[in-house]
Amino acid sequence: MAMCIVCTGLYAQNHKTKNVIIITLDGFRWQELYRGADSALINANYTEDKDEVRKKYWAATPQERRKLLMPFFWSVLEKQGQLYGNRDLGNKDEVANPYHFSYPGYNEIFTGFPDVRMNTNDPITNPNMNVLEFINKQKGFENKVAIFSSWERFPQILNGKRSGLFINAGYMDFTSPDASERLKYLNEIQHEAPYYLGDSTRIDFLTYEFGKQYLKQYKPRVLYIAFDETDDMAHAGMYKFYLDRANQEDGFIKELWDYLQSDPQYKDNTTLIITCDHGRGEIPLDKWRDHGSDVVGSEQTWFAVIGPDSAPKGEVNTQTTTYHKQLAQTISNLLGFDFKAVAGHEVGNAIETVYTK
Ligand SMILES: [Zn+2]
Repeated sequence: MAMCIVCTGLYAQNHKTKNVIIITLDGFRWQELYRGADSALINANYTEDKDEVRKKYWAATPQERRKLLMPFFWSVLEKQGQLYGNRDLGNKDEVANPYHFSYPGYNEIFTGFPDVRMNTNDPITNPNMNVLEFINKQKGFENKVAIFSSWERFPQILNGKRSGLFINAGYMDFTSPDASERLKYLNEIQHEAPYYLGDSTRIDFLTYEFGKQYLKQYKPRVLYIAFDETDDMAHAGMYKFYLDRANQEDGFIKELWDYLQSDPQYKDNTTLIITCDHGRGEIPLDKWRDHGSDVVGSEQTWFAVIGPDSAPKGEVNTQTTTYHKQLAQTISNLLGFDFKAVAGHEVGNAIETVYTK
């Protein structure tokens, strides 16, 4: 289409974003992001070390509590970025797919298309083109897009065979011959760490370390890091660990952001987008552990963004709803491309408030 060349030119001229980093926290609820730790869940039998949890994460107001839980979100991101999906303010973010679990959630984020065929967590190959695949084909981005995930399913979700994307998922080793000593060492220790999430889901700190070392050595223009443990800890009913993992991941994100701002290739031209694949239940109390089409509220999600094109709106309080099917085109537009025009399937419109005043 002739028009998309024009659009592409316009986007590229208007936007400062040259690189995008995407991070997902699997099944992490908006409730904890915006309200901090929940007293009902601390007091219920989901936490053995109640005093320790209170000491770490409890305070009188939601504003204080959330800052204890996610200090990077509630300092740098709040001041310089944008946070969507605080329903207590009337701002809603949600998935458009009716299933509210992982594969459909990640399919929606990256293809922009809540395809009802993607109704499984099984290793079926996704027929839909995703935005990472699309960007990886653009001039200047070839082989500059990389994915590190704790969950082993991303090669199917992002159709690695067709897309040719570099995807390191689950307990895959990083096998490039020129890999740094640190990356080689991570190959070694990941098989020695306890497989407490089963042998198909890597512990998040390892996924993070792989992603971080890859970023430093290979300088990708798009990097996606997919964490998993918040979802695992919630299913297991371990509220303390659910909170601890979210808190740890907030620290990883802070460290990444600090690195990006210290590196000339990334400083002031990199947008960071953080989100999740689905929500969880809220009522009755035990439903926080669960999610799915039969769990009320598990379509409710959130996302946050910080970067040179995103005005510092902080907590967004407009009475509007954003959908995760809009994130693919938003990411694409930030980099100056029109994914929607070439995807070959339905794609949600970009969330323009991310890059307009
Ligand atoms: Zn789950």
